[in-house]
Amino acid sequence: MHNLKIDSARLWNDLMETAAIGGTQKGGICRLTLTDLDRQVRDWFRARAEALGCTVTVDDMGAMFVRRPGQRADVAPIAMGSHLDTQPTGGKFDGVLGVLAALEALRTLHEGGYETFAPVEVVNWTNEEGARFAPAMTASGVFAGVFERDWAAAREDRTGVKFGDALAAIGYRGAEKCGAHPLSAYFELHIEQGPILEAEAKDVGVVTGVQGMRWYEVTVTGQDSHAGTTPMHARRDALMGAARIVEQVNAIAKAHPPLAVGTVGLVEVRPNSPNVIPGEAFFTVDFRHPETQVLDSMEQMLTAVADQICGALGLGVVVTKIWDQPPVRFDPDCVTCVRTAAEASGFSARDIVSGAGHDAAYVARVAPTAMIFVPCRDGISHNEAEFSSPEQCAAGAQVLLQAVLDYDRQLAERHPSRLG
Ligand SMILES: [Zn+2]
Repeated sequence: MHNLKIDSARLWNDLMETAAIGGTQKGGICRLTLTDLDRQVRDWFRARAEALGCTVTVDDMGAMFVRRPGQRADVAPIAMGSHLDTQPTGGKFDGVLGVLAALEALRTLHEGGYETFAPVEVVNWTNEEGARFAPAMTASGVFAGVFERDWAAAREDRTGVKFGDALAAIGYRGAEKCGAHPLSAYFELHIEQGPILEAEAKDVGVVTGVQGMRWYEVTVTGQDSHAGTTPMHARRDALMGAARIVEQVNAIAKAHPPLAVGTVGLVEVRPNSPNVIPGEAFFTVDFRHPETQVLDSMEQMLTAVADQICGALGLGVVVTKIWDQPPVRFDPDCVTCVRTAAEASGFSARDIVSGAGHDAAYVARVAPTAMIFVPCRDGISHNEAEFSSPEQCAAGAQVLLQAVLDYDRQLAERHPSRLG
């Protein structure tokens, strides 16, 4: 192993400097995708990359690829990256850390005069957050073939502005076709956005995958009737049925410990009047788990209890699955590179499954991929109070660099016609 070491203070300075672009009173960032603030941070990023002698390519979804050449131009690059857009009341680290740590890794290679086998790239993916345009992870989704390009470009924000038009307006609709950019591997550093690493005092999370997610819509149907004149035995109260199913959503998740989670976050009652027994109740269910079989089992339990509960109350019920995001298992070789990098750098680490979606979850469909997590205070994210310390950010950046170099070395060894 070599002794390339990232510059912690320089990384922290970059984080604080870019945090001023869209900086909020409470110390967070409001930098929605494809706004003028997004343009400013992209310009900053491009200028820093070009100062290192790197070339910058932009694709037609606005994804930016900063390339540092290696020994072999004919080998696809090893990429690192994340996103520079934020939530409306976002923090200084979600996404930004992954891009700036990757930039710092490039700088460290540059200053050390280290020549990699494959080219090394830093990617800034457009609209990871989905706060302005739905769906989230737009550019990485198109890159991986999950979304169709023209469909993505036609997504509208709440004021009717199309994604494609907003992209052109800030000058970041590039010539390269999104997805026509092969990668040898992809590594993404991100804050955990949860409490596990901090609670266990671990420096680094070796992310083995992203949990699967399923969304359902449930409609319970009864009979609207007068709250004063309808005897209790004669009621068909849709909300009673819904309430009992909501309780079971919680019980189903607890029946699959420790990783399953189940949430009812949206409920609508009709007619929603104080003196009318509800004739209809509508709600959503969000189930998440890293394994498909467990999600299948949770789904079977949900439909069975919904029928049972509503049957007993004389109610109708329809459960419709509206979204199914399968679990992602990251590439074993990439995951091993992250684990080895953490050990070699002297950091404590544990394996972890991501509870949130990330660009890496889509990129994993088209390139060997892994992620690195670092702790964030109290597990708080998507919040202006989001915080990771300079040491925590630096640890993540160091592991990111080491993992890329380890993968690069293996790539060179596997390559039949390597030079030198
Ligand atoms: Zn993020």
